[in-house]
Amino acid sequence: MKKIVISTLFVLSINLINAQKPKESSRLEKLNLKPIEIVFDEQIGKTDKESKALRVNWNESFKSEVKEVSEIALSYLQEKKDVYGISNISDNIKVAKIIESPSGKYVYYQQYVNDIPVFATNFIVCVNKEGVVTYALNEFRNVTKYKDVRNKSSIINNDALKIASEYLNIKGDIIGEPKMELVYFESMDKGLELAWKINIISMNPMGDWQIFVSADDENIIHVEDIAMYANVNAKIFNPNPIITAQTVYGSTSNYKDNNNTTNASLDAELKTAVLSNIKYENGVYTLEGPYCKIEDIEGPFGHNLNPVITTSGGVTGFNYNRSQTEFEAIMCYYHVDAAGKRIAQLGYNVNGLNAMRVDPHGLNGDDNSHYMSSGNYLAFGDGGVDDAEDADVIWHEYGHAIQNNLGAGNMSYLGQTMSLQEGSSDYWALSYKRSLSSYNWWLFADWDGHNEFWSGRRADLNWVYPADYVPYHAGGQIWSTVLMKIWADLGKDVTDKLFLETHLIWGQSPTLQDAATAFMKADLNLYNGSHLCQIYSRLQEHGLIDTNQIVNTTSLVNQTVNTNKIVFSCSDLNVQDVKVQNNAKLTLDAAGDVIISDDFEVVLGSELEIK
Ligand SMILES: [Zn+2]
Repeated sequence: MKKIVISTLFVLSINLINAQKPKESSRLEKLNLKPIEIVFDEQIGKTDKESKALRVNWNESFKSEVKEVSEIALSYLQEKKDVYGISNISDNIKVAKIIESPSGKYVYYQQYVNDIPVFATNFIVCVNKEGVVTYALNEFRNVTKYKDVRNKSSIINNDALKIASEYLNIKGDIIGEPKMELVYFESMDKGLELAWKINIISMNPMGDWQIFVSADDENIIHVEDIAMYANVNAKIFNPNPIITAQTVYGSTSNYKDNNNTTNASLDAELKTAVLSNIKYENGVYTLEGPYCKIEDIEGPFGHNLNPVITTSGGVTGFNYNRSQTEFEAIMCYYHVDAAGKRIAQLGYNVNGLNAMRVDPHGLNGDDNSHYMSSGNYLAFGDGGVDDAEDADVIWHEYGHAIQNNLGAGNMSYLGQTMSLQEGSSDYWALSYKRSLSSYNWWLFADWDGHNEFWSGRRADLNWVYPADYVPYHAGGQIWSTVLMKIWADLGKDVTDKLFLETHLIWGQSPTLQDAATAFMKADLNLYNGSHLCQIYSRLQEHGLIDTNQIVNTTSLVNQTVNTNKIVFSCSDLNVQDVKVQNNAKLTLDAAGDVIISDDFEVVLGSELEIK
């Protein structure tokens, strides 16, 4: 156990800083509708477990003297009200609608209490063309058991809307006008409650939200996203055909672009995956879900982007190959959705990354891809190998979206900051790639690049900063190399989390060494510095330690600290005769004990943090 031994009096004040933790991602749905419990009775059929009322009659043959369909249905209910447990036909039920079909007419009733509708209640009576009732379904609720139910709302509809909007934490656009209606809601925990039913379609958080706010105590009773989403099988490259075939570009004439044609070798690398939460409306699938929205944003325009379901090779789903324009749309959806889910899984909730807009065929057809920070979207070019055929490229561009949405945003794209962003995006891609396969994990984009179109990049270099640093994208390989070494030391989850956290403390134009300091700071914030020694040694191997900001020592003696500094030890840390001044912050961390003795002074305005 680490202990902190302090054998001196602090002069003036100190502030101990709490670790900054990311907001936990939370599920917004709260399902609280009381289910209707049905049992099978040998004598009667399907009946209500509690009231014994008949719930369904598939084989009715009720004839009536009256002719008009609503009168026939009403006479049926009057005749059978005891069987169905309906207490008061004239007050408690109303016709909601009548629908005509080739087999006859369906009369739909809704249940009421105090002239207010009860949510999720139907009684359906089917009357055939001869005027005979042939079928009845009873979804009325046993509400007579609830006494003294409130019949007036304590709040107006707009107050309820405000409560619902605050609960969802809606940011940005709402589609259409929210709908508000006073209803009775039978909840599992409290029974029959008077409630405002609010329906609101928001883009962020994305959903068709149905929320019930208590008209009594203003609590949220029930929350549901009633948007229709579908999960569909699809063929994808994961991450690319070169890795899954364990080969290299051009090893045979089949493992080449060949002007965007496909062949048996490349088709053999199509893997079945599930595209989750995509939109399905009026018989059309659109690649649009919580983390990704495929759009035709840039030229060239007019590509087919909405896939249709077929069956091929035993797989029913979106069966496309690389020569078809839908394929890249599917690739973008799958991988951007996976990246978005990964961030949420690690506990980060980043508004700007929700429903990320992606154009799978943009850049006027160039052999490049980009993240456009002003528009907050990704686009992939079709020059050379179509960029969106290589998951490395998709995850890389998504990395740029992380840089602009998590943390300060508006980052500079110049000098070392640009190299840092490129190396970080390569890391994000390779972290995913290496989790799928260890084969050639260090080659970034070995399908889109490492070929006749461009040379690609790698993350296994022995380059040391500053001697080996080169500007632009290539210089970022120092950073991706270091992070992938840390990945091997600490594992994917810890390193990915540190990687994300570090964006929050980068600021606008960090150098590579600033980013290294931030990475250690992230470990202090997330893990109380428990990985500092391993991280430090990897950063040091590549010259990324800024000794003005990070000091690795076992003793800090007779020092005046004027600038922010992290001092840590991989064993004990002895601190003696130290003064922190000039609004500086000194962070002390040790794998062993932090032992403070003799004079230790923190001047007002400065800070000491002990991890
Ligand atoms: Zn880039």
